Amino acid sequence: MNKILIFLEHNVGKLKRVSYELITAGRTLAKSKNIPFDGVIFNSTNETIETAKEYGLSKVLHINSSSFEKYSVSLFAKAISNLIQRNGYDFILFPANSRGSELAPRVAASLEASFIADCVGFDYSDGELIVIKPVYAGKAHIKAKMYGTVKICSLRPNVFTAIPEPVQEVVVENFGPNIDASATKEVVIDTLKNEGKLDVLEADIIVSGGRGIKGPENYYLIEQLANIFNGAVGASRAVVDAGWRPHSEQVGQTGKTVSPTLYVACGISGAIQHLAGMSTSKYILAINKDKDAPIFKVADYGVVGDLFNVIPKLIEKVKAVKE
Ligand code: FAD
Repeated sequence: MNKILIFLEHNVGKLKRVSYELITAGRTLAKSKNIPFDGVIFNSTNETIETAKEYGLSKVLHINSSSFEKYSVSLFAKAISNLIQRNGYDFILFPANSRGSELAPRVAASLEASFIADCVGFDYSDGELIVIKPVYAGKAHIKAKMYGTVKICSLRPNVFTAIPEPVQEVVVENFGPNIDASATKEVVIDTLKNEGKLDVLEADIIVSGGRGIKGPENYYLIEQLANIFNGAVGASRAVVDAGWRPHSEQVGQTGKTVSPTLYVACGISGAIQHLAGMSTSKYILAINKDKDAPIFKVADYGVVGDLFNVIPKLIEKVKAVKE
């Protein structure tokens, strides 16, 4: 490993939290090997990039051109591959969120690089880098070695803690990819925003509802509890399939993989496909009226009871603590 590159993402003028997590992970790796680590970002501002210096990133390659104003996965992947080849990066970190998950494998394929997705840890014990990732819906972890010149990993959001370690300045270098920007295969023409709604992938606390909530008209309870925690609302697939909530909120194997500090599962049985998406949460609180529900096997805290009684009481308690 000689030179690390970190893919940085920004949203409404701010670096995403996962970018700080990646910078921290990259910084730790770079320090252990005494090698440089840089960031790459598309169409941002110097003010946004500046914030990276709080986490120890001192150089960012800025791909700042109207050709990249609208997101195109094929074009962005080509530009990053071009940067990796021209500047000689050999270890690249992406977030294992929706954007990173579609860019990283494309970049890896185009460079014939080794690629491990959804990593939750690194082990450097015998001087060699070992990558750790969950398998079998989080029931086991594998440790893997990577071979080849270029190695790429995507890191699960909310697993690597972002730890500040300021440097004096971050040097921003404009990078113009040497690619045919008109040869894009697709482009995002519009993004429909969920105004004011915190996405489960970005949230530190998630309150999710399952079939136990009985119907969409009762989801206000989940929303109230999420609001009081300044958290995001999630859902099980049963709830999404029933049309009670949008798919963007679904947590699990065919939904989103989350690792918040606190995951509150209300009226969710804890099927393996749901656990696959949330079992790496730091703390899990389950509210379920069935004491044998599988969710209690992974929960740190459990309340056996009717959620229609428990949630309003919990809201009152949290309110009282906050006041
Ligand atoms: P249920 O299993 O019906 O559980 C409802 C729970 O609510 C029960 O435990 C019950 O005791 C409790 N309850 C009922 N009333 C109350 C009350 N008043 N108070 C408190 N508790 C109450 N599922 C996902 O969630 N995400 C996925 O991404 C996903 N992907 C899948 C992919 C595949 C290929 C397959 C086959 C399945 C997938 N599933 C996924 C579905 C999964 O197997 C379960 O069917 C689903 O998670 C069940 O959702 P649930 O827990 O809300 O409902």
